[in-house]
Amino acid sequence: MLETELYYCPYCGEQAEAVLDLSGGDQTYIEDCEVCCRPIVFTLQIDGHEWMLDVHSENE
Ligand SMILES: [Zn+2]
Repeated sequence: MLETELYYCPYCGEQAEAVLDLSGGDQTYIEDCEVCCRPIVFTLQIDGHEWMLDVHSENE
């Protein structure tokens, strides 16, 4: 199951959309910002039908 979630880049503040694969369970992954190309760390936590996306910079 795919969901989309808006987030703000922790470096440049640009708004972007993440596509989340909720069937993969809890996951942490890194994707570069499309605007400033810096590595954003995404932490996805899934609990039943509830899920939460945390976005932070790599050195936090
Ligand atoms: Zn950025």
